[in-house]
Amino acid sequence: MSSTATIVALASGRPPAAIAVIRVSGPLAWSAGGALIGGNLPEPRRLSLRRLTDPADGSMLDMAMVAVFPGPATATGEDLAELHLHGGAAVIDGVLAALLAMPGVRLAEPGEFTRRGFHNNRLDLTQVEGVADLIAAETTAQRTQALALTGGALSRAADAWRSRCIDVLADAEAALDFAEEEADVAERLQIVAQARLRDMVDEISVLVADASRAARVRDGLTIAVTGPPNVGKSSIVNALAMREAAIVSHLAGTTRDPIEVPLDLGGVAATLIDTAGLRETDDFVEAEGIRRARARAIAADLVLHISDGTCTLESSSGLQVVNKADLGTVGLPGALLVSAARGDGIADLRSHLVDWAQSAVRPGEPALLSHARHREAFAAAGLALAEAAEADDPVLRAEGLRHAAVAFGSVAGRIGVDDILDRIFSRFCIGK
Ligand code: GDP
Repeated sequence: MSSTATIVALASGRPPAAIAVIRVSGPLAWSAGGALIGGNLPEPRRLSLRRLTDPADGSMLDMAMVAVFPGPATATGEDLAELHLHGGAAVIDGVLAALLAMPGVRLAEPGEFTRRGFHNNRLDLTQVEGVADLIAAETTAQRTQALALTGGALSRAADAWRSRCIDVLADAEAALDFAEEEADVAERLQIVAQARLRDMVDEISVLVADASRAARVRDGLTIAVTGPPNVGKSSIVNALAMREAAIVSHLAGTTRDPIEVPLDLGGVAATLIDTAGLRETDDFVEAEGIRRARARAIAADLVLHISDGTCTLESSSGLQVVNKADLGTVGLPGALLVSAARGDGIADLRSHLVDWAQSAVRPGEPALLSHARHREAFAAAGLALAEAAEADDPVLRAEGLRHAAVAFGSVAGRIGVDDILDRIFSRFCIGK
């Protein structure tokens, strides 16, 4: 990938739409954009109405709003042009084709605009991850968490940790320089350093323990809906999802695959897994559905056990729900009584789920480490600091501190991340 190529892509969603935005970034961005508007470039950073024509044959492409931005103070760190077109497929195709016909201009790869911004120090790696999360965010909690990441909250924290390591390291190295007659001073310095290190280890273990909460905000909680066939699992999933997501049938075993239904539980993302009727079967496809259902149910954050009064409850953990109240089903102690068919108790069930989701992820309290990469870096730093705290030998202690400082430095992506960049940018779409 040459950084001198000028790249172009549709940055907005799938046509047709009211407006489509095409972005052009690189050394030829202004001249390429300018070629479509007869060289009549607007004032930088101001949207201006222009007539777009194809330089090849002079045919009209669109009347559009055009803006140019001078690098390096742009999203990519390069000269940038934006064309705000009418969002029809033929307009977009015509403008893209006219731009791509110019020498030195090519279509952007997925995430390439953001990648250029990263390489030009416009944003660090945690901010890149935040942008990807923000684009994927579907709930309030996901958006809040992604915005904190985009705003640099994590890189500031990791940098602060890194400078704490360097402070202790400076003291540790100073202790090495004391003459033998000052051994008591050196020893006192060591005791202070060890106490500081132990405090840091404790603080980091709290952060790492909290990481699963942040991951759940990002990835969503999972709720497995289990129970014998025909008790109304699919009907309850539909009632909660407020749409006909799962196939409801009076024939036992019609739900073949675990069906996943997204739910917004008071701003927290969750996925309901409507498990296939959990029973023995000779049908290969159904058996596979049941196997997957069991695996997902085992890994789920919460299990909703559904029964209909004709059977005993399978388990005492999770949330117990007794369905078909309209048929005079008798409730069980500790279980919610609902009727999926009539809607009785569904609001109550939903509010139980919202309370559970809120207490599981506490969306009001920002959690710092939302990606496995962040958690691993902090865990590695914590381990290195614990080793440094235990070390009697000042040289070993300094070594542990240096490892920890490198691990914190890797969070913002300035060191030791080359091998993972492709993986991170592959999450982006073309045009971002
Ligand atoms: P699943 O196999 O557990 O997913 O059960 P379904 O949701 O497919 O429902 C099985 C049958 O029970 C269907 O005929 C539903 O219409 C019926 N059913 C589901 N919930 C209720 C309910 O609350 N009351 C009554 N009377 N029937 C229900």
